[in-house]
Amino acid sequence: MLYTHTLAVHTNNKKTGNAILNQAAIATALERTHGDPAAVRSVLVKSRDLQGLDAEDIAVLISVTDPDLLNELFETARFVKERIYGRRLVLFAPLYVSNRCSNECLYCAFRAANTAMQRCTLSLTEIAREVGYLTRQGHKRLLLVAGEAYPPEGFRYILDAIETVYATNGGPGQIRRLNVNIAPLEVDEFKLLKKSGIGTYQLFQETYHPETYRTVHPSGKKADFNRRITAMDRAMQAGINDVGIGVLFGLYDWRFEILALMQHIRHLEHTFGVGCHTISVPRLEAANGSGLSCNPSYPVSDNDFKKIVAVLRLAVPYTGIIMSTRESPELRRDTLALGVSQISAGSRTSPGGYSNENGVNGNGQFSLGDHRSLDEVIGDVVRLNYIPSFCTACYRRGRTGRDFMDLARPGLIKDYCDPNAVSTLAEYLNDYASPETRRAGEQAISRLLSGMHESAAARAVKMLEQVQKGKRDVYT
Ligand code: SAM
Ligand code: SF4
Repeated sequence: MLYTHTLAVHTNNKKTGNAILNQAAIATALERTHGDPAAVRSVLVKSRDLQGLDAEDIAVLISVTDPDLLNELFETARFVKERIYGRRLVLFAPLYVSNRCSNECLYCAFRAANTAMQRCTLSLTEIAREVGYLTRQGHKRLLLVAGEAYPPEGFRYILDAIETVYATNGGPGQIRRLNVNIAPLEVDEFKLLKKSGIGTYQLFQETYHPETYRTVHPSGKKADFNRRITAMDRAMQAGINDVGIGVLFGLYDWRFEILALMQHIRHLEHTFGVGCHTISVPRLEAANGSGLSCNPSYPVSDNDFKKIVAVLRLAVPYTGIIMSTRESPELRRDTLALGVSQISAGSRTSPGGYSNENGVNGNGQFSLGDHRSLDEVIGDVVRLNYIPSFCTACYRRGRTGRDFMDLARPGLIKDYCDPNAVSTLAEYLNDYASPETRRAGEQAISRLLSGMHESAAARAVKMLEQVQKGKRDVYT
């Protein structure tokens, strides 16, 4: 078992990165890997118990290159995904509020020294306009994103932005869950963030490889590897128990990154009794003014990307996996089945990019692979027999962190998720969908109902009736 924790190191009462990351253990695991078919198959059999995998198992799967074994890995990932998530797929959109940044991440268009970027921080009125646009499309979940340089009011700006998002109505809908992806905070600030009613606090380590991290983050607060890798500890100390972590794939060897990411998760589980709620798997995309982004040092092929998703699905079966519109529609279609549980749709990556076609500044953070509207994405996924879900019930009912895992592990969460997915999809189809998407969506709901447990189906039918009568925000 390679997740033996180096004893937590405390310096001035702050946990340090070397209590989280054990590079020697990763190197040992990767050295031992050999792609032996018997070993691979034994890990695949174990994966079907839905108990997750340890580092040695993960290293065995990472080494698979033989096409037949790879297919078996994908098949097992499909099985696990189906058993835990069924056909549900949660949808959201990013909301960029500011592209001002004092950091110098060499892969990002928002980096401080990029003079080609016109800077913009949305006013609260502009934020409300963006939210109005997104809610009129049918979105119920957003992810607030910002660079690390706030206007004179500092972190208060983020809190005001959050309040504005929740207070904005657009058409028949409103945002019901706002996740945030902003730079690391101190514990007191995290407490304020928690109080503001956010869903998940998301932060990507970008790379867990300290040397690479230093190279690609030459200046600014973000240059401090330790401050970043310990951010989730501070968030959890502040009472935020839904956290989302991730790696920016393309900066360093993805094999190392997966094992390091797992160490981060085990550290959180060990310290706080619950790991992360979601894992994001962004791949480096071309960004204006960033040579590195156009020529990644460790490019990840489409096949390896699928392998990453499949291995993570088996390693942490109950943890959500998020895929963004960085990826093309074709790859997104393939990867859904392998383990992705949340996708963004209809996204723009510049502040003001929704209500003002090209964004206030005309520049996004990076280029997108999927430019389809929310309606087109929903039409596509229902035809693929997935059920797009706008459900926000767990967070609003307090089923978060450990409480969520206690329901998820024995498979009980499905009895909530399926009816909630059905009622939120029905709301979407009634209020926002094009006629073609509506037709395809109604057929998908019928299919889902016929495959549900009797009690869940009965509950779903009652909820559907309420939605058809005009009631909104019906959830269990
Ligand atoms: N500024 C904060 C930070 O860096 O943590 C939060 C938001 S940042 C705008 C969101 C994420 O965008 C980063 O964590 C990084 O992984 C991702 N990103 C930056 N440049 C990218 C690129 N060229 N391609 C894909 N993702 C990128
Ligand atoms: Fe700033 Fe985040 Fe972009 Fe880095 S990734 S330059 S911190 S916005």
